[in-house]
Amino acid sequence: MAQEKQIAWDLYHSYENFKEKSLINRRFKHADIVPLIERLKNKNIFKVDKAGKSIEGRDIYLVSFGTGKTKVFLWSQMHGDEPTATAALFDMFNFFADDHSFADFKKYLLSHVTIYIIPMLNPDGAELFQRRNIVEIDLNRDVLRQQTHEMKILKTVFDSIQPVFGFNLHDQGRDYSAGNSFNPASISFLAPSPDYEKSLTEPRENAMKLIGNLFNILDDFIPGHIAKYSDDFESRAVGDNFTKWGTSVVLLESGGWRGDREKQFLRKINYITILSALNSIASQAYSTTELSVYEIIPQNEKYMMDIILRNLQFKKDEIEYTIDIGINFDEININGAKDYYLESEIADIGDLSVFSGYDEFDFSGYSVEVGKTKPELFHSIEELEKLNPVHLYQSGYTNIILENNNFQGEFSYFPFNIFLSKGNEPSNSIRIEEPANLIIRKDGKVKYVIINGFLADVTNLENWSGNSIVHKK
Ligand SMILES: [Zn+2]
Repeated sequence: MAQEKQIAWDLYHSYENFKEKSLINRRFKHADIVPLIERLKNKNIFKVDKAGKSIEGRDIYLVSFGTGKTKVFLWSQMHGDEPTATAALFDMFNFFADDHSFADFKKYLLSHVTIYIIPMLNPDGAELFQRRNIVEIDLNRDVLRQQTHEMKILKTVFDSIQPVFGFNLHDQGRDYSAGNSFNPASISFLAPSPDYEKSLTEPRENAMKLIGNLFNILDDFIPGHIAKYSDDFESRAVGDNFTKWGTSVVLLESGGWRGDREKQFLRKINYITILSALNSIASQAYSTTELSVYEIIPQNEKYMMDIILRNLQFKKDEIEYTIDIGINFDEININGAKDYYLESEIADIGDLSVFSGYDEFDFSGYSVEVGKTKPELFHSIEELEKLNPVHLYQSGYTNIILENNNFQGEFSYFPFNIFLSKGNEPSNSIRIEEPANLIIRKDGKVKYVIINGFLADVTNLENWSGNSIVHKK
């Protein structure tokens, strides 16, 4: 274990030397990875094949390397909006392509394992940054029918390799927590069940032992942020069936990490996890890990919210309540799904003491009310630019109405929301499933506002870094 941990730390500290610098966020496309794959052909160690085409005709690649007897198959991004591991695989290609460092370690790995990788199994989904493929089929429910090109390709490659180990690489929602720990489930594992009885077959037990081994290593890097996905059998899912067909499958899900919506830190953790797994498989170190390690990994629970405002005073019909307000954001794709803006929703109200926020603010001693819509109409952007938002807030407004047919866009960087027609403004009370627009006062004076879920200090509005929403008809 000491030696495995040392290698993991060496990988951690040298990561920047191998990180694929052209992949900078989560919304990279097939066109961004094709030149990176083409580049691998210049290196003798890699064999690059086209495994087939997606429904829209994008090439799906199979990269293989190593000469060892244990076959390991990794596939990423069968869900198009789950790219964290794909980026980590390209970091790993750079690691193996480098001629100078970690020579002994790489030689050791490649003489013990042969590695097969399909990066980005669902390029059509990635193009739209959506989970499903272009005909709206969830590939992870298509392994039995195999109606999609993408799943046929995965199954054909799987059958031709008959891998000993398989890595099913996904991202999971930011709302997952590691048990009730108040931490996000940043990495979740699962050794999928091969049947409804959740039988402990030998392939499944080996996957559990490997996961236990990885848990022990990763606990140094992200303590308290590792969890386990539900092991309920899903008869249509890839991991469950590949386990049934005799492969030790490790499901690896990248969740959330505080202050890192683009998950670049978790990408680095993926890189360390996958290389540590290859090391453990090569040395068979996993085989001596007790199954009890897997058992103690906390379950995925859903106790995370994007924002929690704590201990606000709220008055209705002369009765005072103390409430917490939980807010979540939705990412809305724009510019051909190359970028996004955020849309807020109040997720819960009341005693939220069992939940944890990616960001939390304690408003003890402050009162809250819903942000209202100013009834007087505006007619031009120039008028909005001249508007002092603080005056707006002091009258209890977070929204304005703009009568201007030329206004474009679905969001703005004004610190107030814009309604493009009268009559569809939000409700006049704080409600769940409504956008989060709030006025926060102390001793009657407005101190903070929440505009589309983003907190603004009214004395320091220049530092507000959120986006507001433009509501059409
Ligand atoms: Zn997924």
